[in-house]
Amino acid sequence: MKVLITNDDGIFSEGLEILVKKLQRYFDVSVVVPDGERSGAGHAITLLNPLRVRRVRHSPFDGIDAWMVDGTPMDCVILAVDELVKDISVVVSGINNGFNLGDDIFHSGTVSAAMEGTLLGFPSIAISAAPDGKENFEVAADIAYTAVLYVVKNGLPDMTFLNINVPKWSKGVRLTKQGRRRYIGKVHKYKDPRGLDCYWIGGKIEDEGESGTDVDAVKNGFVSITPVRLDVTDYTLLGRMESLQDSIEKRYR
Ligand code: MN
Repeated sequence: MKVLITNDDGIFSEGLEILVKKLQRYFDVSVVVPDGERSGAGHAITLLNPLRVRRVRHSPFDGIDAWMVDGTPMDCVILAVDELVKDISVVVSGINNGFNLGDDIFHSGTVSAAMEGTLLGFPSIAISAAPDGKENFEVAADIAYTAVLYVVKNGLPDMTFLNINVPKWSKGVRLTKQGRRRYIGKVHKYKDPRGLDCYWIGGKIEDEGESGTDVDAVKNGFVSITPVRLDVTDYTLLGRMESLQDSIEKRYR
């Protein structure tokens, strides 16, 4: 069974290395990842430049099919599916160095790669862990393995993927819904060495820990598993917006 592994932290990521080492013991693994870090690249596709792809043969990728791409995580998934990797059964994206919770889903290259796998029809898993923790990545890799077995056996609903986050020394597992995670003071203004203004997007995390959310689970030391749907239609509002429809149609009558 073929597992496609991708990420947004790039070819030199420790989380990737540990995930590859774990999954290749059980599955036929192929790796297609960016040639450097692309965290925050979201769902971006490279359309205006050609992409270059290189085979990677050094450890830990010796003996498996691995490529690095000078593009985004999305480019990697598209190239893998259309060109590089045959007979994919499952897509796993990670292990990301740091959590992808709440609002992060919309910015994360890790999560977006799993989204793209889902859009292309493959059961997909995004997995992220507390940053800079070799031992924790080992735990996350084991959870990824278990999650792959789960999706192979049970499948996932169409247009749904799993977003998994692993805190340090996790106390257990919570099945969660997406929470809110805001970044306060997002833009930092600096002077460059020539005295010109420059800006750095960062910001302090402010989590809204409503109970039952991914944010709340990780804050309290539990592994969070969120089934995320890609149909983001608001069906409640959909049934209540006739007045907008009417007022627009009136302008054209
Ligand atoms: Mn990342």
